Amino acid sequence: MNHYRNILIAIDFSVHDHQVAQKARGLATQLNASLHIIHVLDNIPMPDTPYGLVIPLNEDSSYPLLESEKNKFKQISDKLDIEPGCRWLIWGEPQQEITRLAAQQQIDLIVVGSHGRHGLAVLMGSTAKDVMYHADCDVLAVHLPES
Ligand code: AMP
Repeated sequence: MNHYRNILIAIDFSVHDHQVAQKARGLATQLNASLHIIHVLDNIPMPDTPYGLVIPLNEDSSYPLLESEKNKFKQISDKLDIEPGCRWLIWGEPQQEITRLAAQQQIDLIVVGSHGRHGLAVLMGSTAKDVMYHADCDVLAVHLPES
């Protein structure tokens, strides 16, 4: 059996990120795979920026909300020891951007939480399910507790 070579963690800045990220980190270490991380900006208004949908992480912007999201993303990515070139902060719709990036970066496993910011009412009913349905690669939905 071929091992996974490129693993992508999708984080939504919810309290569950730690659990999802630890599962992906553990797998990547065991399999000696590259670890990528994505957060899709779907909850702050998009400013009139000179760059496109992919946020350059090494440039400061004059948009405080974006800087705060970048800082959160940097902290999590640093903790997981993810290479700078494997960090993806992107404007858009989560399912679309996660599956688009996965295809573009030849990801062979996407790791998501079974639920997140959208809560339990839609357990496996939103991003996780949509990613599973649309991805061209395997998807691991990490089971999360109900609290
Ligand atoms: P939800 O759709 O809120 O139930 O989230 C399920 C899972 O999808 C989360 O645990 C994350 O792994 C992923 N996810 C949801 N929203 C985003 C987002 N904006 N960016 C990246 N991943 C996300």
